[in-house]
Amino acid sequence: MDATKPHPLVKDTNAQLNVRLLASLTLIALPLHVLSALALFAVYGPHIMTGKVVLLSALATLLVYYLSRTRYVETAINLLIVELIALAVAMLYINQDSASAITAVLPIYAASMFRSQKRVIITAVITLVGCFAVSQLVPGNWSELMGVLTLLVITTIVILIRTNMLLRTEAQLRRRNQQLAESEARFRAAIDAGFGIFYLLKSVYDAAGGVEDFVVVDVNVRALDISHFSYEQMIGKPISPMLPEAFRQPLLDYCHQVVKTRLPIQNEVLMVREVWWELQIVPVGEDSIAVSAEDVTARKNAEARQIQLQVERERFRLLRKFVSDVSHDVMTPLSIINTSTYLAGKVTQRDEQELHLGRIEEQTVRLKEMFGEMLNHSRLDQLTPGDLEFKPIDLHELLRQVITTFEPMAHKKSQQLVFQPCDQPVWLAIDETRLRVALSNLVDNAIRYTDHAGTVFVSCLSETSMITIEVKDEGPGIPLSSLPYIFDEFYRVEEHRPQNAGTGLGLSISRKIVELHGGTIEARNRSSGGMSFRVHLPVRSPDSVRQ
Ligand code: ADP
Repeated sequence: MDATKPHPLVKDTNAQLNVRLLASLTLIALPLHVLSALALFAVYGPHIMTGKVVLLSALATLLVYYLSRTRYVETAINLLIVELIALAVAMLYINQDSASAITAVLPIYAASMFRSQKRVIITAVITLVGCFAVSQLVPGNWSELMGVLTLLVITTIVILIRTNMLLRTEAQLRRRNQQLAESEARFRAAIDAGFGIFYLLKSVYDAAGGVEDFVVVDVNVRALDISHFSYEQMIGKPISPMLPEAFRQPLLDYCHQVVKTRLPIQNEVLMVREVWWELQIVPVGEDSIAVSAEDVTARKNAEARQIQLQVERERFRLLRKFVSDVSHDVMTPLSIINTSTYLAGKVTQRDEQELHLGRIEEQTVRLKEMFGEMLNHSRLDQLTPGDLEFKPIDLHELLRQVITTFEPMAHKKSQQLVFQPCDQPVWLAIDETRLRVALSNLVDNAIRYTDHAGTVFVSCLSETSMITIEVKDEGPGIPLSSLPYIFDEFYRVEEHRPQNAGTGLGLSISRKIVELHGGTIEARNRSSGGMSFRVHLPVRSPDSVRQ
């Protein structure tokens, strides 16, 4: 055990140093006292006065040592001062002048341990008075006294200057400590109140010099809450095992990135167990980073609700537009049916009746087609690629069948339907029924918008990973201002409305089907007039084809 270690209640570090110094001095002084007393007794006999004084001083030193090990340190120093003054006076009294001079300065040194100038002055005055008083009692001590007094005054001045400097330095240190404590308190309050989770991390390097992990230098209350560890358990330990599992890998990846690039990561959003965290990671110094993560779930939910609301509004707008478009489109056939029914009941001639009945049938078919298309569209809207039935199909065969279906329609308009196949047979994994619908819409439009006696081309182009099917016509084309919207639901080119009885759903259906096949569709005006629609389909590997 360290014999100079202060009592645990002595808290101040400076005081602890003084106590150690005091204890060490007394420990050295004690055997010296005893040895010098024994030497004096051996040389001058047991009645020598100096020996007795030294022995008494040894006892006092023992007491000082004992007190310095307790909480009564101040008493110990006071006792030491008294002891040293008494010793100096005693030495002077028994004519040990040089010993008295040396001893007289010691209480002033001891008093300076209190770091109080007042105590130094009081001790110096008491020592002076004591020495002066004893010199009055002992004749012939005047000259020696002057030496002792001069030494005392000089020593006091030096110690006062030193004490003053010490006090100033201490005051400065206290101020700095206070500023540091205040700044630490502000930092703590800020990280506890403002950020959500906060970690200050330091990189840990592996043998190869790469960052292996991060140790926790500081954390705030919220971070402790979510990790369920105490502050002491976290500080100085690697962060990885203490992070919630779902949070760990993505967060560590970001931390590594910041350490590597020394560039901050800001406003990165991460979702962990239904909670959205917004991350800010900034480099601090050479190898540390500050990580803060704020719970932005409420904000994210509000954003999602906002988007949902916009979608709902858009849906409502489309629905209104749809109802108005459809009402208009449905009203025309309905009023024709209405008039024709009325007229069919009025006319008596059979052939006239047949004419009206024919009109009614025509309009009923049209209505049926219209609603069929709408139904198709709404069903398609709910489909995903997984709902399609992909089978390897001979594409040429499919295209020929589509063309054959439309031949009567083309024939009515004296049009030619020209098929230009690929160089070699093409087997494609597709949902045949649905792709047939998509292609039929294109051929149907091409025939409808091409004038009498025009030509419609259906061609196939094969590339390594892609098949392109093109439908070209010789119609009026589409104005450039309308081109971006023609795949939108219910969109119909204004200029075509008078002669176009469609719903504006055909191209939207085609695009949806092509996209479900992983392909794309594009429309462009041909330089020679007319439209060109191109469908690009990826060539699937046989493994990806579900039978
Ligand atoms: P619709 O059933 O009205 O034809 P689509 O979605 O098939 O609806 O087509 C949307 C609009 O694009 C049509 O109303 C028409 O104005 C225009 N359109 C489509 N195909 C062609 C084409 N081959 N030539 C010119 N215009 C076309």
